Amino acid sequence: MPVLVMKFGGTSVANIDRIRRAAKRVGVEVAKGYDVIVIVSAMSGKTNELVGWVNEISPLHDAREYDAVVSSGENVTAGLMALVLQEMEIPARSWQGWQVPLLTNSAHSAARIEEIPTANISAKFGEGMRVAVVAGFQGISPEGRITTLGRGGSDTTAVAFAAAFGAERCDIYTDVDGVYTTDPRISAKARKLDRIAFEEMLELASLGAKVLQTRSVELAMRYNVRLRVLSSFEEQSDEAGTLVCAEEDIMESNVVSGIAYSREEAKMTLVSVADRPGIAAAIFGPLAEAGVNVDMIIQNIAEQGRTDMTFSCPTDQVKRAEKALSEAKAAGHINYHDLIADTDVAKVSAVGIGMRSQSGVAAKMFKTLSDEGINIKVIATSEIKISVLIDRKYMELAVQALHDAFGLDKAA
Ligand code: ASP
Ligand code: MG
Repeated sequence: MPVLVMKFGGTSVANIDRIRRAAKRVGVEVAKGYDVIVIVSAMSGKTNELVGWVNEISPLHDAREYDAVVSSGENVTAGLMALVLQEMEIPARSWQGWQVPLLTNSAHSAARIEEIPTANISAKFGEGMRVAVVAGFQGISPEGRITTLGRGGSDTTAVAFAAAFGAERCDIYTDVDGVYTTDPRISAKARKLDRIAFEEMLELASLGAKVLQTRSVELAMRYNVRLRVLSSFEEQSDEAGTLVCAEEDIMESNVVSGIAYSREEAKMTLVSVADRPGIAAAIFGPLAEAGVNVDMIIQNIAEQGRTDMTFSCPTDQVKRAEKALSEAKAAGHINYHDLIADTDVAKVSAVGIGMRSQSGVAAKMFKTLSDEGINIKVIATSEIKISVLIDRKYMELAVQALHDAFGLDKAA
């Protein structure tokens, strides 16, 4: 029988009523003839509570015990969901990560999936089980310890199962009814997209559109898993939600598909560093080692052999960046006159696969911002994305203006 993966996020399993409602959706697909793999998150708020307890005991905790504690939320929901399905007379069984077994590496709290052997669950399907309810977000390390996949990791569990079992689709049930052209809380004109390409979703996910964990989209793209994002709070048709799919499966799209933003960006400038071969490596090497996620980089024109180097990173990594750079300076690897951190900036990005074939998108973006009197501090581009750093107080205005300028309120 064809396999379908259905993932329910925290708000979709927040209490027994909602688990019943989710189970009904599962029942509909079972009735259609699918063997279903249900991936569940912890009840909403649960993981935060567990993380809070661990941090209360020790901020510098043993990551193996963090995983032991934090993975437990999903175990509860998996068991409850299996019970509800059984009450509906659907043969169902719960599976914790180690029982599958979902094999990961040993990077506790941010583990990567290495393999999902399908034999155990397939055998049970063969014996008449119709639904395998799998606890999301967790796996087992080569040492036999429980691991977790990083916050939001149930999405990645779901996609990995869809790939392993060759599922027809991976439906991600959440509290929004799809992927929007921008955040509806910022622009009332935001429109739900019927389809979006993997690459675009990847940019939007990493740019702060928090619908899907970034790694889940990477995985879906690699294995060509058709991902559907939809709401568990609405009656559903087969066309509901947003399909995240390969570019070839999208007939028409706007040049720009979405406007993303990230409020938590900081701009850091190293004033007057020596302009010599190896200087970028000497700066960004230590930053990478310190785990700073550098995004945009600009190196200014040099004057008398010295230049300014500016980069952006998440606000909560500023302290770490400062430490890494001052250590590199103390060790004599780099030299700079000053290090300036500007934490009052935000990043706004236009994303769209249409940019590959159409020119003038950047010009239009800059003109739109200029018409609003918004100063651009840093610019970065990729094949399908243009990002700018601006003063944070103009972020909403910039998102709205760009959404209007690219006509995103209307379908292509
Ligand atoms: N419960 C975990 C979290 O809140 C994993 C997930 O829901 O995706 O991050
Ligand atoms: Mg999530």
